[in-house]
Amino acid sequence: MKLLESKRCELTDLQGRLQGIVKTDEPLARHTSLRIGGPAQYFVIPASLEDISETLDFAHERELPWVVLGNGTNVLFPDEGYRGIVIKLGPALGQITLTGDRVRAQAGASLAALIAKVRSVGLRDLDFLVGIPGSVGGAIVMNAGIPEGAIAEVVTRVGALTFDGKFITLTPDECRFGYRSSRFQEERVIVIEGEFALGSGKSWDGEELLRRRKERQPLGMPSPGCVFRNPVGVGATAGQLIDRAGLKGYRVGGARISTKHANFIVNEGGATSRDVLQLIDIARSVVLKYWGVELQLELAVVA
Ligand SMILES: Cc1cc2nc3c(=O)[nH]c(=O)nc-3n(C[C@H](O)[C@H](O)[C@H](O)COP(=O)(O)OP(=O)(O)OC[C@H]3O[C@@H](n4cnc5c(N)ncnc54)[C@H](O)[C@@H]3O)c2cc1C
Repeated sequence: MKLLESKRCELTDLQGRLQGIVKTDEPLARHTSLRIGGPAQYFVIPASLEDISETLDFAHERELPWVVLGNGTNVLFPDEGYRGIVIKLGPALGQITLTGDRVRAQAGASLAALIAKVRSVGLRDLDFLVGIPGSVGGAIVMNAGIPEGAIAEVVTRVGALTFDGKFITLTPDECRFGYRSSRFQEERVIVIEGEFALGSGKSWDGEELLRRRKERQPLGMPSPGCVFRNPVGVGATAGQLIDRAGLKGYRVGGARISTKHANFIVNEGGATSRDVLQLIDIARSVVLKYWGVELQLELAVVA
């Protein structure tokens, strides 16, 4: 009873400081494309930049860990949940503004909304991102893309909030983008917005890319997209190495290496974080044994 009271009190404490939404014990499975993840101690949906700063202050005061969540399409949370604050950036921080040869988008906007906005003025510059189900923030952090191009190639500027609440503006060089990587994966920084160049003359066939995606990926099943980065200089993708090691369709509990695309792990129902981590270990060790290649995770695993 006392525990419940103190929990309520802490919740009101934080809720009273924010315009946005605060929940406790929110199941993270509801917010990830893999449909896996136990409860978040605090789940905050900020309504403004001030809300994010206030949440960070609260975290520091209580010495609580925090993590940012975009659309949850490349992340694995533990079955036990997250002791700390999950800061979910959504449509409240999803403004998109077109100005001349630039488009600016807040981190909570979906890539789909960004692409649609650019298409609304007859441009197809960002169509290479079609079908990637992430948010703008998540796409910048992961340097999302396809073999023919990544978001870093169109980024002109990124606005971010440091862990101590300072707003900083970074050039593409300062973002240290690499293949499915950026400095934001290593630092306690929250990506708030991105600015992207338009009118490069590069135009993509979004419909064709979507068709290719449907043909190759298990889109009807809960998954986090590609689990591993493609190894460099090996002449085969991570999926091909896993496939050739005979692991396509391999199953642990409710999780399976997709029969359609061996770099996807799908949740066939009731999969746990432990099942997925076990499959990851198996894929890694078998590929290392057969092909001598150490696969690196693309999936963001939250401890
Ligand atoms: C069916 C399917 C297909 C996919 N296809 C592709 C593809 O073709 N190419 C590709 O690159 N990816 C693909 N993905 C993976 C995923 O969609 C991308 O990595 C996407 O960019 C993740 O964005 P998100 O908003 O969902 O990030 P999340 O999954 O929410 O987060 C990913 C990581 O970024 C961090 N993060 C998120 N937002 C912020 C922020 N604002 N500030 C700081 N940190 C943040 C999180 O803490 C986490 O570590 C696919 C996924 C699925 C499910």
